[in-house]
Amino acid sequence: MAAIPRSPSSPLEIAIIGAGPIGLEAAIYASALGHRPTVYERLEAGANIRRWGFLRLFSSWKLNTSPLGLAALEAQGLPIPPAEEYPGGGEYCDRYLAPLAAALGDRVKTGREILAISRAGLLKTEAIASPERARKPFELLVRNRKEELETAQAQVVIDASGVYQNHGNLGSGGLPAPGEEEFSEKIAYHIPDVLGGDRPLYEGQSTLLVGAGYSAATVIDSFIELMKTAPGTRLTWARRDTRPEPLPRHEDDPLPQRDQLAETANLFAKSPPKDCEVLTGLVTSRIEESQGRLGIELRGETPAERQTLEMDRVISMTGYRPDTSIHRELQVHLCYATEGPMKLAAALLGEDSNGDCLARTGLPGDTLGHPEPGFFSAGHKSYGRRSDFLLRTGIEQVRDIFRLVERDEDLDLYDEAYSP
Ligand SMILES: Cc1cc2nc3c(=O)[nH]c(=O)nc-3n(C[C@H](O)[C@H](O)[C@H](O)COP(=O)(O)OP(=O)(O)OC[C@H]3O[C@@H](n4cnc5c(N)ncnc54)[C@H](O)[C@@H]3O)c2cc1C
Repeated sequence: MAAIPRSPSSPLEIAIIGAGPIGLEAAIYASALGHRPTVYERLEAGANIRRWGFLRLFSSWKLNTSPLGLAALEAQGLPIPPAEEYPGGGEYCDRYLAPLAAALGDRVKTGREILAISRAGLLKTEAIASPERARKPFELLVRNRKEELETAQAQVVIDASGVYQNHGNLGSGGLPAPGEEEFSEKIAYHIPDVLGGDRPLYEGQSTLLVGAGYSAATVIDSFIELMKTAPGTRLTWARRDTRPEPLPRHEDDPLPQRDQLAETANLFAKSPPKDCEVLTGLVTSRIEESQGRLGIELRGETPAERQTLEMDRVISMTGYRPDTSIHRELQVHLCYATEGPMKLAAALLGEDSNGDCLARTGLPGDTLGHPEPGFFSAGHKSYGRRSDFLLRTGIEQVRDIFRLVERDEDLDLYDEAYSP
C-alpha cells in the first residue's frame, strides 16, 4: 500500500460505489490520506472491464495507471507494467486492479449492491442545497450476496458505479423497439467475444449490427477476422446516420488502435465485404419471430424508407447509460441530456478539444459535485451517456475530488507517490 503522507485528525468514512478502476483509485487515494473508505461492489473488482476482457485497451499502461496505484504494486513486490504497452482488458484487471483491491483488503466489499442512498433523517425536499445537510450522514441501502438488505452510513459518497451494466435500446429515439425485450436472448448488448467464446453464436450466421461508435467498430473488426475462416457468416450494419465516414478520425491520433478501428469501420461503410451490407438512415422499429429467425423491421424518416430483414442474431451497440435511480433521494443536479453532473456536462459541451477526449485537460473538480454536500460522481458515470470517457480523466478526477474533500486546492498525492 502506498505511503500514508497524511493522518487527518478526524478520518472520514467514505463510501465508494463500484470497484472499477476509478472506485479503486478513489479508495487508494482516500486510504493514503488516512480516511476510511469502503468500496461497495455488486460483483467483483473490475467486473465491467472483465466483461470485455478479451479486447486490448487503446490507451497504454501509463494512461491507465496512477502513481499511487503503481506504488501499491511496488509495495506488494509486483512488477510495474511497461508504460508504453497496451494491456488486454483481462490483463489490466489481473495485473493492476486485482492488486489494488488486495491492497485495500476488507475495505472492498464484493457482492454488495447499492440500491439507494439518502441523507439520514432528511428528505430530498428538506434543507434544499443547504450545508445543514452535511451535518447528517449518508445512509446507504445495500443488498448482499444472500439477497439480504443492510444499511451503512458514510460522511462522503463517491459514485463510481460506471455505465456498462445499463445498455441502451434499439428503437426510435432510444426506446425499446416492440419485440426487443421478448427476443432479448438473441440480442447482444455488450461487445461479444466473436473470435473466442461467442464464436459459435455468430459463425455461419446472419447478424445485424446496430450502432456507430467504437464498440460497433470493434465488432466489425472482429467479424472481418471471423469471416476469413467461417464461411456463410454475414454481417449487416444498420445505422441511423447517413455519413459516408461514420467514425471520427483525429489528425495524428495519439491512440493508434482507436484510429485503426475507425479506419476499418469507415472502409466497411464505404465498401462492405462480400456477404455484408450497410444500411443507413434507418432505426429498428419492430422485432418478431420469422420462421425460427428474427424478422426485423427498420424504418427511415418517410414511410417509403422501410426494410424488413431476416436475421439470426442482433448486436446492439447503442451505448450505455448511468443508473440514476440510486441517488434519487439526494439533491443531485443532472444534465437533462447526458445524465452526468450538470456542471461537468456543461463544461464538456463548451470545451475546445476538437472532439478528441485525449486532448481534454483537467476540468475543475467542483464539476463533479452536486447541491448535495459530500456527494460526488466519478469515472465513466460522471460522463453520463457520453462515450468519450478515458481512464486518465478518471484518475485526475479522483485527485480533484479529494482537493474538495480536504479543502486544499494544491493537494496532489500523485506528485509524491511513485516515480519510475
Ligand atoms: C469496450 C470498452 C473499451 C474501453 N477502452 C478504454 C481504453 O482503452 N482506455 C480508456 O481510457 N478507457 C476505455 N474505456 C472507457 C472506460 O475507461 C471504462 O468504461 C472503465 O471501465 C470506466 O471505469 P469506471 O471505474 O468508471 O467504471 P466501471 O469499470 O464500469 O466500474 C463500475 C463498477 O461499479 C459496479 N457497480 C455498478 N453499479 C453498482 C451498484 N449499484 N452497487 C455496487 N457496485 C456497482 C460495477 O459492477 C463495476 O465493477 C472503454 C470502455 C469500454 C466499454
